[in-house]
Amino acid sequence: MRTLDLDALLPEIAAQVQPLARQGQQADYIPALADADPNRFALATCDLTGAEHAVGDADVPFAIQSIAKVFSLTLALQHVGEDLWKRVDREPSGDPFNSLIQLELDEGVPRNPMINAGALAVCDVLLERCDDPDGEVRALLSELCGEPIGIDDEIREAERRAGHRNTAMAHLMSAFGNLHTSVEAVMSTYAGLCAVTMTTRQLARAIRFLANGGVDPKTGHRVVPEALARRINAVMLTCGTYDSAGQFAYEVGLPCKSGVAGAIVADAPGRLGMCAWSPPLDASGNSRAGGAALHLLAERAKLSVF
Ligand code: GLU
Repeated sequence: MRTLDLDALLPEIAAQVQPLARQGQQADYIPALADADPNRFALATCDLTGAEHAVGDADVPFAIQSIAKVFSLTLALQHVGEDLWKRVDREPSGDPFNSLIQLELDEGVPRNPMINAGALAVCDVLLERCDDPDGEVRALLSELCGEPIGIDDEIREAERRAGHRNTAMAHLMSAFGNLHTSVEAVMSTYAGLCAVTMTTRQLARAIRFLANGGVDPKTGHRVVPEALARRINAVMLTCGTYDSAGQFAYEVGLPCKSGVAGAIVADAPGRLGMCAWSPPLDASGNSRAGGAALHLLAERAKLSVF
């Protein structure tokens, strides 16, 4: 890696993958995502010494959407440790991220914390223990990226209004006794997490604690025990990229998490954190150009864990 010139490699990758964005389509269930500029593109890396490399719109903020699920999971594991797995499983779903059928068949226990139902259960666990769960997730993110981060109130409200399936999932879990606080509180927390805004550069920094055995490499602060960092990485690798987790494991070979705004974070254990952003999504909901960028970066920098 030391001999690899990321300053040269990142623009090369950007030039190669950016045209692929035309094959994708940005999410359209809320105006803020439908109106996103499809030509935005960024790729950023941050290694464990803090050295950063970036190309494109790396300092433009966007809603992190489902990427927040990694950090709400982290916070829940801080609070309850492995007891969390009594409330949510850790198997890939093989079904859409907002599937209700699976939740019915599994009697209200979501397949994993990277799909919506699992994230709603995680919000519930946090609500039982913190006064302001989404505020605490934002504080964690802010600490990890070393800068204040924002929240887009319009997106938060739009998520709440458009969240019929998510609300239905929360009610279903409640009916099965796997939601202990109110559906309204869970939905409000969840919408707040979707609406956190960050940049590609900030996300590449924030994910590094997972590449560093659970310790924030900048401050030396232990975020989670090493064993839990391994487990979060395992869940990301197997469940973090919607129905394409197998394909991502094959092509990228790293723990990754996608969000519907077109960002994908990944970490290479012992090496670096990274993030790619391009709003148009492929059929499974992953950023078309962002996924291709991580594929090329992992190949060229030999980052795969396999
Ligand atoms: N706000 C989205 C939803 O709950 C998040 C989806 C995502 O980024 O995967 O539908």
